[in-house]
Parts: sequence; C-alpha cells; structure tokens
Amino acid sequence: MRKEEVRTREMPPDLAEKVRAALEAVRDQKRRFIKCPHCMHNTIAVFEDTRGHVQTKCPRCGRECIVDTVSMHRSAGHKIELRY
Ligand SMILES: [Zn+2]
Repeated sequence: MRKEEVRTREMPPDLAEKVRAALEAVRDQKRRFIKCPHCMHNTIAVFEDTRGHVQTKCPRCGRECIVDTVSMHRSAGHKIELRY
C-alpha cells in the first residue's frame, strides 16, 4: 500500500513566531519520554515545564491513551519491569 503524500504549507508569520518562541522556551530544559502503556514505546516527549493531561496516539501500536504528565514524572529515566 502506498503511503498517501502529506501536503505541507508555508507557515504564516504569526505561527512561525510561536514555533520559534516554543523552541527557545525549551532550549535549556531536560526532555523525557512518556511510554505507551500498551506497548512501552516512547510515545511523547515532554519537557520540565509540561503539566497536565495530554491525549496521544502511539505511532507503534496505534492505540490512543490519555496520560497525566505530572504523575508520570517518577518513571522518568527508570526502566519499567513488566511481570505476568
Ligand atoms: Zn503503543
């Protein structure tokens, strides 16, 4: 199956400025990943100032979930062991 080509556009100046400001805001922040609870893939990257809930769709397994970026701080950098 051929992947559909995604059309992109030139960013309007006001949006380009917001993207530039966001990059500048995280420049000196540590980045960590939150894992998909279904397949343990690093699903989204969050920064030190990230707070609240986000909804994400895992690029590997395709399942959606809502994660609390604050309560999932503790798993940062730790290897999670799964036991059945
Ligand atoms: Zn997944």
